[in-house]
Amino acid sequence: MASDVNPFESLQEQIDDAAEYLPYSTDVLERLKHPERVVETNLSVEMDDGSVEVFRAYRSQFNGDRGPYKGGIRYHPQVSRDEVKALSGWMVYKCAAVNIPYGGGKGGVEIDPDDYSDAELERITRSFAKELRPFIGADRDIPAPDVNTGQREMNWIKDTYETLENTTEPGVITGKAPDSGGSAGRVEATGRSVMLTTREAFDYLGKDITDATVAVQGYGNAGSVAAKLIEDLGASVVAVSDSSGAVHDPDGLDTRAAKDHKDETGSLSGFEGATGTLTNEELLTMDVDVLVPAALENAIDREIAPDVQADIVVEAANGPLTPDADDVLTKRDVYVFPDILANAGGVTVSYFEWVQNRQRFSWTEQRVNEELERVITEAFGDLIETYENTDAPSLRTAMYVVAIKRVVDAAEQGGIWP
Ligand code: NAD
Repeated sequence: MASDVNPFESLQEQIDDAAEYLPYSTDVLERLKHPERVVETNLSVEMDDGSVEVFRAYRSQFNGDRGPYKGGIRYHPQVSRDEVKALSGWMVYKCAAVNIPYGGGKGGVEIDPDDYSDAELERITRSFAKELRPFIGADRDIPAPDVNTGQREMNWIKDTYETLENTTEPGVITGKAPDSGGSAGRVEATGRSVMLTTREAFDYLGKDITDATVAVQGYGNAGSVAAKLIEDLGASVVAVSDSSGAVHDPDGLDTRAAKDHKDETGSLSGFEGATGTLTNEELLTMDVDVLVPAALENAIDREIAPDVQADIVVEAANGPLTPDADDVLTKRDVYVFPDILANAGGVTVSYFEWVQNRQRFSWTEQRVNEELERVITEAFGDLIETYENTDAPSLRTAMYVVAIKRVVDAAEQGGIWP
């Protein structure tokens, strides 16, 4: 994390900011600032050499007013109770922002997966799935991939759950491989919604995307797909980075070749299609039209925000701006399109995957992409309507106003259970 700002406090601050534009009393809003429950567990797992290692793991179920808890599972050394709580809260407001019938959850294991063999990672994942079994389910809580997890881990969790439950229930988890019940279009969904948000932003601001330069921080699932699809719109992606540093070409990089290089070598470092390298900080402060932070939270903090030169920031990562960095950019009239809209493609296609699993019927990739485009463009329209018809100072606050209203409506319709 670039900054030590607590992401859970950032989430609560974002809710407080939106509260000023909502007619609700503090007690209604207080409930929306804390998770309903957090499961914390210690996984004891046998290593390849016969020793046993203990891993701290969490699952936060933040709010279920609009539907089952939904959200990814992250493997990272920075995973903490507060990080998982924040990420689960952002899922609540993301699902509400794009109007899909889910609440929010998130899980994580405090681990650097690079330090473990595939067999060890499988045992760690199955151990976590065993611990989660009483808390998850197709109608209860549906995990998905996040940083350092993907189809492989989702397939292991599904298999563990189905074995222990003696059933077939692909809808217990999303982001699976297609042969295990995954959806067409899921792998590209997060990057696709980043591209759709960027496209709509240019349209709204009356700018031509084919003249635009773009820098992308983070070249994993979200960042590399966003870069490729934004390049396909005609923009010039001039810099991309991963944890090894950034590569750069003022005339535009071949984003597919950069991804192939990263897949082959494990990092962007040494990519021959670039004219030079940059530090991550240099990438974040480049003079580009669009900056896409697609790595981790707090990438842009108070220190670096004054130097950000992009006119538009499209948040592919969750929580990449600290609240004070957000204030700096808002005051400088930088348009920040918030994570709870821009990266919502992942959970939206996860929702489509869950629908297909329950229908036992597969959609074509074209149908998935068309439905995703409809969901994101409608949410973009809701955002702009609220932004223009309230005094909300930022797009983020306007999006939270839309989302919180939907959660409160559902809660009020359900009433209070003593
Ligand atoms: P990933 O593990 O596939 O990729 C993460 C990338 O970030 C890697 O390329 C890594 O090298 C890079 N990175 C890490 N630290 C960095 C740093 N300091 N500077 C530059 N690059 C750095 O993860 P992902 O799934 O692409 O997730 C990225 C972000 O997008 C996270 O915030 C995640 O929560 C969010 N997100 C992902 C999805 C999804 O479907 N994958 C959906 C919604 C949101």
